[in-house]
Amino acid sequence: MKWLACELHTHTLHSDGSQTLEELAAGAANLGFDAIALTDHNTMSALIGKEEIERIYGLRIIRGMEWTTFYGHMVTIGLSAFADWRQVDRDRIDEGIEAVHRLGGIAGLAHPYRIGSPACTGCFWEYEIGNWSAVDYIEVWSGTFPSIQTNNRRAFDLWTDKLNEGYRIAATSGRDWHAQGETDEPISVTYLGIEDDAVAENGDAAALSIHEETLIQALREGRASVTIGPLLTLKLNADDADYPIGSTVPSVVERPEAAAQPILVNLTLDFSVRAGLWSLPKQICRLKLCSNLGEEISLEVPSSSDGQMMQFEVQLTQSAPDIPRRWIRSELWGTVRGAYVRVAFTNAIYFEEGGYPR
Ligand SMILES: [Zn+2]
Ligand SMILES: [Zn+2]
Repeated sequence: MKWLACELHTHTLHSDGSQTLEELAAGAANLGFDAIALTDHNTMSALIGKEEIERIYGLRIIRGMEWTTFYGHMVTIGLSAFADWRQVDRDRIDEGIEAVHRLGGIAGLAHPYRIGSPACTGCFWEYEIGNWSAVDYIEVWSGTFPSIQTNNRRAFDLWTDKLNEGYRIAATSGRDWHAQGETDEPISVTYLGIEDDAVAENGDAAALSIHEETLIQALREGRASVTIGPLLTLKLNADDADYPIGSTVPSVVERPEAAAQPILVNLTLDFSVRAGLWSLPKQICRLKLCSNLGEEISLEVPSSSDGQMMQFEVQLTQSAPDIPRRWIRSELWGTVRGAYVRVAFTNAIYFEEGGYPR
């Protein structure tokens, strides 16, 4: 699996940003991104000239739009055309999500708990979702240094609640990037996982060998890992098969001999990603495995100052017979700017109902 650095929430002069698409692409390339999603408010008009800008800056631009209304903002990406939001009122957002899907796109709740301002009306999510299965992702981190913000913690908890209820929803970060200019706050990255054979081995231009739809599909399937530092990835090995982030471990209820085997968990922390573009103070961090059963495993791991790759292997214990494990993810916690925060988290690996192990 190759992991591509993506920024999934951006604006240009075509809505309330103060940058052109070209300035945005140049800034993203300088920050080590392989792809950006353009999500202007209620318009896709800034995409004109996209192909040439992609070629110049060697990064993929995903077409998108931030569906912007008084009842909430919804990030939509991968659309083949403009999705009309004007007729959707507060209790009909399910129809809006269906319209996005019909156009080949996917839909995510943008910054669902951000309190608005006169310049950002309707930032807070008030739509009533009837069908959570149709929601593709939740932007659980919004802005720079997102993990410290209370509104993002609430969004993260919403995601966890929905996983506990059995929904399979991805989680992303989005800077909601409106302008070029330096920031000294940590920048978050959503890494999307692509099968190795979908990427050409041609260095800097690797991102351009990836089709837009391949990236959309990765997010649709929850192959995502989010960080303000090292790239954290997770893989399970059960019954002699590997299960990457976003996949589902099948039930072995019918096969007790398989259920008796432990599940091996491989965790990787890659400190070499986007070298020189971020830093994490030297410290002992906490690497956790969390599921609907709570915090299952917590390891002390050193932060690396010399860009190494670190691997850890642990075994999952059996879950209590009356509470099946439904999903699992990994989180990296550490101290950044004096605050103890999530530094990184993976999306979930799921367990088929009636699951593994019992
Ligand atoms: Zn917004
Ligand atoms: Zn926005």
